[in-house]
Amino acid sequence: MWSVYLDTNPMRAPVVRTLGLVSRRAYLGPLAPLRARQIRHTELPGKKWVRVRNAMAGISGGDVALALLRRDRHVSPLALPRQSRIYLGREVCGEVVDVGADVEFLRIGDRVAYQLDQCCATREIEPPCRHCAAGYYNRCENRYLPGQQAIGGGWGDEMIVHERQLFLVPDALSDEQAALLEPAAAALHAVLRSQPQPGEQVLVIGAGTLGLLTTQVIRALTPHADITVQARYSFQAEMASNLGAAHILSAADGSADVARYTGARRFSRPLGSEMLVGGFDAIYDTVGTDDSLQSALRWVRAGGTVVLAGAHLAPMRLDMTPIWHQEVRLLGALEHGTERWPGNAAPAGWQADGAGRVSTFALAAALLRERRLTPQRLITHRFPLREVRRAVEVARDKAEHKAIKVLLDIRDVPNLPLDELEMVEDQLEPPHPQLAPAPFGGPAPSTQPAPPSRPGRA
Ligand SMILES: [Zn+2]
Repeated sequence: MWSVYLDTNPMRAPVVRTLGLVSRRAYLGPLAPLRARQIRHTELPGKKWVRVRNAMAGISGGDVALALLRRDRHVSPLALPRQSRIYLGREVCGEVVDVGADVEFLRIGDRVAYQLDQCCATREIEPPCRHCAAGYYNRCENRYLPGQQAIGGGWGDEMIVHERQLFLVPDALSDEQAALLEPAAAALHAVLRSQPQPGEQVLVIGAGTLGLLTTQVIRALTPHADITVQARYSFQAEMASNLGAAHILSAADGSADVARYTGARRFSRPLGSEMLVGGFDAIYDTVGTDDSLQSALRWVRAGGTVVLAGAHLAPMRLDMTPIWHQEVRLLGALEHGTERWPGNAAPAGWQADGAGRVSTFALAAALLRERRLTPQRLITHRFPLREVRRAVEVARDKAEHKAIKVLLDIRDVPNLPLDELEMVEDQLEPPHPQLAPAPFGGPAPSTQPAPPSRPGRA
């Protein structure tokens, strides 16, 4: 089996960054951390593990940022333990081709999407931590314990994962839709961190995949919200309008334009600061830079909500005064987990569990099945797996290529090895040390996150 990964050897980054001053090609060149690996020893590492033959995989902004070393070592997540290899491709669907002896929820031939990284369920820790017990595997306190990791990711012909990492894809969804369940669920989670009310003025900052899917989700769950999207490029603005944005802000638009549109009053001083009284009721920042978050904090009304969904691995320097001076609520959003049932906006025939909760992935799949979310409309480019480097370039240079969502088509592609990437051949990693006991076991036994369930079950 072949898989594309990042070599996290700390010696690579400074060398590549230095060469990158001369040419951007260094980031995808022979010394770059992006590598391909043939894994010859491919036995399942546990009785609840499965092998998946991949069909379709997306290139996410996170993948591109990792490959291009877009990170500052001073941000706290970089203190976490890292594998020597990070397999790329979390937006992926495929078919189960091998199952361990104790696999409960999946069968050979099932179509699955990658849902989650390691958490209490995949580490078989009972009782689970308090977050997993509540369905928030994205906050798992045991996520970074040593232990078996997935072998391979979406950017490869196969991956070997714990069965609880997977979501059983309903038959009604195509492979492309299934591969885009992950970003759709991430957008759904961001919106459900604070769902807009009918009639509210909402701004989505950013019109890449996450921003456009966030726009779709708001339109699906709160059809009468008034949605503005700030888009950097005209092709993104056009797509945002097609997906339900009533108004578009360009990257050059500022607080005066926001004041005009929302009816806010604007105050400013020459060579000084500016402030709006009034503004958007809610703002979803899907970019996550200093500039975007600063705009969000200044353009939201007093008592309004800013959801920070864009992930940017760099410290920020910001005027945070709106948080106390205007009592602005700032919420973060990471991946997906469990949602409170969105009431009347819920898909037909689906119900929450007894506690009013539903898995984000299941809800996203139901909205796709009802065509209320159509992430496949964002696909602009498809490449065979062997052209993965070209695919990353297109996703990186999105303005030049008018790229929104770039997919790798892995069906009928036995023509590996991959072009243009240095190959290494080696064996599976050595066995990992024994797991430590769960430090924060919750009192209630729980099956969360929801195991892969047959279609038709909530
Ligand atoms: Zn946990």
